[in-house]
Formats: sequence, C-alpha cells, structure tokens
Amino acid sequence: MHARLGMDEPISRRDFLNGALLAGAGLLLYRQAPTISPADAFNGYGGIGDYSRSNGNTWDVLSAGHALRDGAFEQRVADAADTGEMYDLVAVGGGISGLAAAIFFQKYKGGRALVIDNHPIFGGEAKRNEFLVDGQRLTAHQASAIFLVPQKRGYTDRFYEMIGMDRSAFNYQTWRGPSPEMPLAHSPYETPRNYGFYFGPQFGQRPGGGGGVWVMDPWGRKLEGAPISDVARAELLRWGTDRVAFPGPQTEGDAISRQLDSITLEDHLMARYNISRETVRTFLSPVEGGGYGLGPDVLSAYCNYAIETQFPEDGDAELGDQMFPDGNGGFARLMVKTLIPDAFAGPRTVNAVWQNRVNFRALDRAGQSTRLRLNATVVRVAHAGDPASASHVVVTYAKGNRLYRVKARSVVVAGGSWTAKHIVHDLPASHRAAYAQFYRSPCLMANIAVRNWRFLYKMGLSGCRWFGGLGDYLSVRKMALDRGAGEPGTRAAARHVVRAVRARVSRAAGGHVRAGRVRSAPGHRGNHS
Ligand SMILES: Cc1cc2nc3c(=O)[nH]c(=O)nc-3n(C[C@H](O)[C@H](O)[C@H](O)COP(=O)(O)OP(=O)(O)OC[C@H]3O[C@@H](n4cnc5c(N)ncnc54)[C@H](O)[C@@H]3O)c2cc1C
Repeated sequence: MHARLGMDEPISRRDFLNGALLAGAGLLLYRQAPTISPADAFNGYGGIGDYSRSNGNTWDVLSAGHALRDGAFEQRVADAADTGEMYDLVAVGGGISGLAAAIFFQKYKGGRALVIDNHPIFGGEAKRNEFLVDGQRLTAHQASAIFLVPQKRGYTDRFYEMIGMDRSAFNYQTWRGPSPEMPLAHSPYETPRNYGFYFGPQFGQRPGGGGGVWVMDPWGRKLEGAPISDVARAELLRWGTDRVAFPGPQTEGDAISRQLDSITLEDHLMARYNISRETVRTFLSPVEGGGYGLGPDVLSAYCNYAIETQFPEDGDAELGDQMFPDGNGGFARLMVKTLIPDAFAGPRTVNAVWQNRVNFRALDRAGQSTRLRLNATVVRVAHAGDPASASHVVVTYAKGNRLYRVKARSVVVAGGSWTAKHIVHDLPASHRAAYAQFYRSPCLMANIAVRNWRFLYKMGLSGCRWFGGLGDYLSVRKMALDRGAGEPGTRAAARHVVRAVRARVSRAAGGHVRAGRVRSAPGHRGNHS
C-alpha cells in the first residue's frame, strides 16, 4: 500500500495540489481532461474567507517573481507611471517585518507610510487558511504557527503592547463528550503524550503489504520494537532523550556563534550527540531543518541557536508554545489594525481582529497615514540620483501588467533576500556579495481537513512522525478559545478545528522530500516535534 500510494516518490506543489483538484474533477468528467488555467492548476483550492486567494505563493506572485529574477522589467522601469505620491517611508513586503517597520516608524517618527506586498493579502509567512467542512469553519496557519510567551516588560512584550496584543497566553479547548479524554497538544510543534513513530517499508517491513511498524511512546519505551539497528536506536535515543550539555552562544557574533556558523548543522548534530551522518539523514533531516526548505547538510549550525540568542528573554517553560487559532497570522492582523484602524470592524482586540473580516477597501485609501498596497511586486528601489546626495528614493512596482512609481524619503526592504538582491539598485558591493550567498528554497505546507479523526483516537495517538515519503508529521491540536467563547460561530469553529490535521510537504534542493520545524523554544529541546 505504501508503495502503491507512491509515498516514496518526490512530488511537486503542482503535482500535489493538482492531483487533489483533478481527483475532484475526475468524478465529473470521463476521458476528457478538465480545462484548468495554469493559475488554477498551480494554486489549487484556497479555501474560504480573507485568504481564499492567497494560499501560499500563487501563480501571479510566482510569475511576477520569476520575471523580476529574469530581468523582464528592466527595460520598462523608466516608463513606469508616476503616481505622484511621496512617502516618508515605504516598506517593501507586508509580512511581520514590513508591518513592524511601519509600526515603529509611526510610533517614533510619524508621517506618511506605504507598505507594498505582492500577495492578495498581508502577512507574508504569517497567514491562515480557512475551510468549510460539513458546515464547520476550520482554521489553520499557512506557515508561521507559534510564539513564545515574552518576559514581562521585555522587548517583545513592549512590542505586543504597541500592537494591542491583549494577552500573553490563550485558553484552549477542553475535552467534551463521553469518551475518555485524550490529552492533546495546543500547538503543532509539541510532542503530545500519545505519540508514535511510524517505520514504513523502507525499514525492511513487508514491501507493498502495508506492513509498517508503529512504535508508540517512542522515547518513553526507548524505541522498543523499532525495526532499526541497535546502533541507530542508541544514536536516536541519544538525540531524543539525552540532555547533552552544550555551551551555546550567548550573543550573536560571539566566538561560539561564529564557530557554529562555519559548520553545517549536520556536522554539529553529529558531534554534539555522537551520532552518524546516516542517522541524521534518515531520521533528523526534516525535523532539524526542513522548515527552512533545506536539510541540516547545508544549513548553518547557528540556525539552531539564532532565535534563542536574539531573544533570550522569551519563552515560558510552563506555558510553552502559544498559538493564535490561526497561527501568527493573528499578529499580522493586529499589526494592520494598529496601522489602519478601519481594516477590521470593532475594537483592537485579539477577538475582534481574529473574527472580523478584513475590510480591503480601507487598506489603501488616500489621506490615511499608513497605506497598504497589495498585489504589487516591487521591481526597483533606486536613489533619485547620487546615493550620497539624493533627496529621495524611487520605488517602482508592477501591478497587473503595468508599472508604477512612488517616491520615498526612506525605504525598508523587508521582502527577503531573494528579491532584495534583484531590486535594490544601489546595493554596495559588500552587500551584493553577501546576498549572493542566500538561496531561495521552496517549502510546501499543506493543510488537510480531516472529517473524522477517531481513527487516531482509536489508535491512541494524537501526533506522530514518519521517516521518508510525503510530509513527516501529523498533529491534532486543541484550538485556542478566545474570551468570547459564547459568541456565535466561535464555539462551533473551536470545537471542530481539533480535527484539522496538518501535514508539511517540503521539497528540498537535491530531490529529497524533507520537512520539519523551524524554531525551538528556549527551555525546551527543539527537536521533538
Ligand atoms: C514553514 C514555516 C514555519 C514557520 N513557523 C514559525 C513559527 O511557528 N513561529 C515563528 O515565530 N516563526 C515561524 N516561521 C518564521 C516566520 O514565519 C518568519 O520569520 C516571519 O514570518 C518572517 O516575516 P517577514 O516579514 O520577515 O518575511 P515574510 O513573511 O516572508 O514577508 C515578506 C513579504 O514580502 C513579500 N515580498 C517579497 N519581495 C517582494 C517584492 N519585491 N515586492 C513586494 N512584496 C515582496 C513576500 O511575498 C512576503 O509577503 C516559520 C516560517 C516558515 C517558512
């Protein structure tokens, strides 16, 4: 069964999403391939609500990005239509960074700001998906999921205050119904108590017979029954359960962080846990690196320590990872509400901003201090004349088939290095050389709504991992309840989203399918998700 399902085959986003689309269409059409535009074929189903047309990098976003990379706009930049606008700040990219730039600017300086993003909605990696399944609205994050509880009055906490983040932790669903309670995690990155490893046919089980081996509570039972060698078992246990002391970096740029940055994460894991390269590649690649779209064989070892080093004060060992119902898209929504109060109806609270729809018409209105322009790919950021004396910067963007330009007294490029290196015209040679070392790596995340998760309950698991093939983990989570749990819609949505099961599919360079988590919480080992 494993082989028949093609679990070991590499798969692209197009194949994956298109397969689902065609499977549906195939019910209606016999012999005749459905006519699907390249955009629809690539995008797949986007769900409902504010994000229905923004499920990841859609065809339009990708096409504009590729045209930018290939220099297709070069000849046309000079002919861009001048909108006549002059801003004190233009932020390129409407993810958490670009929105934060605008928030800091408005708080500490003030003026006219424009945030430009190439997607149909703001948020960048911090977006949600919504689905209507059997009349229930399910919500899940697209990429960025969890946050760490910030220390009171620390830097992050002060930022939360600035954006109206009115709590540091959420309440989560409680168990209801007659069946004995199964403890569930409240984020996809925790290892719940009912946890299993699945070892498929590649570990010597009956080929094609569906005869994989489940090892429940793998750490507690010391991988008993796992179809792997004693050496591999011992190594995996060392990684999974030994608290190997390691004097990590204290500050970014200190001797340890520089040393870590000079080796791969794979070499570091091998040395730290005394394990083989094969063990890293067979069992740890997705979890230790895949969220970056790459494996530890090419990632810097510093990746594993960067976040804790930069924000040492964040993370509460008791409260653990916290999560908006829709992941960190909740932050993006609060930030936009802070910048543009009419963007959502109601007060600037987590509840209102999470539940109320985006008022897209309010985002880019003339006269307001901050405007947010969507579906616009910035193709050039260049000083008007000599960078040393230029009075302003010209920002040119593509929207539809046309190019436009605006002027700005300052620009923050917060779109990511993959476009920054193409669009910033006056980049110093040192920066150009540094950017040349960055690569864009695809990472496909797929939310799969599951109608009935009782088969998992019957198996006694609410989370599991497998090694190789499509995706690498599954987790059933309790959803955060907002304060107004009695409000219409909230209860129903919260009660059923527990069925949402998340699978990651990432296609790493080199043809391996890998996936995994991105960050680890201080106080926790980051590798048990
Ligand atoms: C799979 C995954 C899981 C993650 N999980 C977590 C997590 O659980 N917790 C956590 O804290 N962090 C997580 N992260 C990291 C977190 O998502 C990022 O650090 C954060 O969202 C980055 O925000 P950003 O604004 O810097 O970049 P982005 O979110 O990438 O936003 C940049 C925006 O700019 C746009 N853009 C780029 N170029 C241009 C251009 N030329 N013109 C116009 N727009 C442009 C991009 O399309 C994008 O919309 C995760 C990341 C990934 C990929």
